[in-house]
Amino acid sequence: MAERMLQFVHLPQQQPPKREVAERQADFAEIYRDFATTEAERQAARCSQCGVPFCSVHCPLNNNIPDWLKLTAEGRLEEAYELAAATNTFPEICGRICPQDRLCEGNCVIEKTHESVTIGAVERFITDTAFDQGWVKPRRPRRELGRSVGIVGAGPGGLAAADALRVLGYDVDVYDRHDRVGGLLIYGIPGFKLEKDIVLRRHDWLAEAGIRFHLGVEIGRDLAFAELRARHDAVLIATGVYRPRDIGGPGAGLAGIVPALDYLIASNRKGLGDAVPAFDSGELDAAGKRVVVIGGGDTAMDCVRTAVRQGAASVKCLYRRDRANMPGSLREVKNAEEEGVEFVWLSAPEAFLGDDSVSAVRALRMRLGLPDASGRQSVEAVEDSGFTLPADLVIKALGFDAEDLPLAFGEPALAVNRWGTLAIDHRSFMTNLPGVFAAGDIVRGASLVVWAIRDGRDAAVRMHAWMQQGARIPAAAE
Ligand code: FAD
Ligand code: SF4
Ligand code: SF4
Repeated sequence: MAERMLQFVHLPQQQPPKREVAERQADFAEIYRDFATTEAERQAARCSQCGVPFCSVHCPLNNNIPDWLKLTAEGRLEEAYELAAATNTFPEICGRICPQDRLCEGNCVIEKTHESVTIGAVERFITDTAFDQGWVKPRRPRRELGRSVGIVGAGPGGLAAADALRVLGYDVDVYDRHDRVGGLLIYGIPGFKLEKDIVLRRHDWLAEAGIRFHLGVEIGRDLAFAELRARHDAVLIATGVYRPRDIGGPGAGLAGIVPALDYLIASNRKGLGDAVPAFDSGELDAAGKRVVVIGGGDTAMDCVRTAVRQGAASVKCLYRRDRANMPGSLREVKNAEEEGVEFVWLSAPEAFLGDDSVSAVRALRMRLGLPDASGRQSVEAVEDSGFTLPADLVIKALGFDAEDLPLAFGEPALAVNRWGTLAIDHRSFMTNLPGVFAAGDIVRGASLVVWAIRDGRDAAVRMHAWMQQGARIPAAAE
């Protein structure tokens, strides 16, 4: 082991510096500055090179973290990048937006006595450096197989599969209803976590490798699913989950109560320079408004921080559990608090007040009860605990379910499970329709980018194995 490793004993953890709060509040640029090369190398050298690296075990991609940390510490950045890219299609994206505190870094063994190695920031640094140095080359196949795959959805799951299949030699066509690739990376996740050009440069890179993109094409509307199956030897569905969970109660239909993704898409499109009438009319713009966001996940965190940047008069996040029991990343809660967001823990909406448009949220205090069957503490309302929060804009961020895909695709035989997500054989990634595979959120339910990448890569391997046997979608399906 290089002597320069194991530096955690005397070198404290250092994340890349954050921009000043006042500066952050005023734009949508990423809040973390870049690591300087020397700092990245020093931080990588804190790793103790564990024999059983729990960081890798808890990374959904099982990234070879200790080895690329060691290469980084030795200044061998090109090799570090190659190793990182071998297991991760988009290391610079995961380095930015994985909830590392729950995955790799949260399981780093030095976390117990010293703060963890800054794995995500180093992964981002290595890959950004590789782009700057021109080490990132399109992954073209050595030989063409003359066989064709259609992928529905250009989110991280679909793109990871497209890359893996293209490099094996398949003709790959990716269809997406949006006009840009990236799925939630481009229209869901705001620029202060992941700047848009980071996502868009991957589009260029994948197109240069020979992947054909058909953007603005919605399967089931612009192109029949049956036609798609007729065109390709195999099809992968990676359409994500987009049906927002709704909230009931008196006044829930008032104007000014909007779904989170409508709000975030409008903001992201505005930032990309698109015409967004619902934003320009003020309907989806938080400027000058008292904003209440309901929910405690990543989507809620992105909404509160977007509202701050749009110039909201005040931003409150209403969540029925407490800080320790929220699903969102604690790092993002901290960032939101720094930026002026007020968290109203253990509170749930009871009614929405207002004439035509919402003017306040009536809420109840909650307390945590006994654990339910899943082991999670249940929540119950505290009697006579009602209170009112003034609000001009209420954003509902309660999670997402799958759309009715058999209906949308005009394919009633496509099997779903009881949550409405696609049912697959988890060994083959195939749905009940021969040659139709599925991956990402449409199988798992709302999850994480890193899991979508993992599923996309695994599905590509299984699709390859299936087509290697000479199989293709049966003619009867055409
Ligand atoms: P998606 O990214 O949803 O992509 C699906 C694509 O399919 C979309 O482009 C869609 O347009 C397309 N599509 C759907 N139906 C059709 C059709 N009929 N025809 C053609 N195209 C279609 N995860 C993290 O790891 N870190 C985070 O910080 C994080 N923040 C998030 C913030 C928000 C606001 C949201 C909503 C999610 C966040 N997530 C985060 C979760 C993460 O974005 C998803 O788990 C991930 O994007 C799922 O990837 P996917 O490829 O399965 O689907
Ligand atoms: Fe950590 Fe995510 Fe990178 Fe894995 S992909 S090492 S979980 S930041
Ligand atoms: Fe290094 Fe931490 Fe991983 Fe151990 S768990 S190999 S110290 S990053």
